[in-house]
Amino acid sequence: MEVILEGPLLRGTLSLRSRRCGKARCRCLQGQLHASWYLVQRDGGRLRQLCIPKQLQPLVQAAIKRYQEIRTLSEKLSQIAWSRLESARALPSRRRSARGRGEAA
Ligand SMILES: [Zn+2]
Repeated sequence: MEVILEGPLLRGTLSLRSRRCGKARCRCLQGQLHASWYLVQRDGGRLRQLCIPKQLQPLVQAAIKRYQEIRTLSEKLSQIAWSRLESARALPSRRRSARGRGEAA
């Protein structure tokens, strides 16, 4: 299990949004909306979003993927630690009695 931590991590999702720009004579008024990618992130209770220019999309996508990989890995490590803790709890009765004898002597 090896993770190469190179480059930024980003929590969130890339989401395609269509909108009208507000200019008086634009094609978007005829229904041809402008599509832009947004990085959407839940920040505490609220959503925040950032319009992502096309040239930054690969970088943002990679950073999101990296974040998810780290999160998946953290979850696996936590499960391993949980299992080890369960095993460790099962063992000590022998150790405890050994220590008890030691203290009594
Ligand atoms: Zn427009």
